[in-house]
Amino acid sequence: MTAPLNAFTVDLEEWFHVCGVGGTLNPENWDRLPARVELTTHILLDALARAGVRATFFVVGWIAERYPHLVEAVREAEHEIGSHGYRHERVYDLGPERFASDLRRSVQALHAVGVPRVTLFRAPEWSINDRSLWALEQLASPRAARGNEAPGEDNARPRGCGCLVRPAGVSREEGATVRRAP
Ligand SMILES: [Zn+2]
Repeated sequence: MTAPLNAFTVDLEEWFHVCGVGGTLNPENWDRLPARVELTTHILLDALARAGVRATFFVVGWIAERYPHLVEAVREAEHEIGSHGYRHERVYDLGPERFASDLRRSVQALHAVGVPRVTLFRAPEWSINDRSLWALEQLASPRAARGNEAPGEDNARPRGCGCLVRPAGVSREEGATVRRAP
């Protein structure tokens, strides 16, 4: 029997990146809220290094823009990096046009901090479901997340769904569990 793959994944986001809440936690207030992501991420990176574990970090684009050195630290530790959207909004709340724009911006933010290829995407709050299956086509499209790079270059393309895509196939994430899609 083959041993199961144990995958450790992280949403690299702030405590205030909560979908669907308003008031104090509105995006226009984010720059004024107390930041914790640097400290907590370094604690986690240290723990992963001690355990000899490599993880996949899904980075919110807003974080990548403000903490390029943090993404660099994740890269230097040889963890995988994927997109977790730009502003951590639910896919079905964004709708097709705004999702395309948010996705592009998130990929551009990762490119800007030196991530050469973005091939993984995790939807905030697992928000690709029956209400947002159109997002799968966008994610699979070479143009969906191209950003500013030259036409014909596919480096920016997160492949697959609101889930994980690996060479072995597509894995749909459902809550805290992951299963291989049929
Ligand atoms: Zn998240």
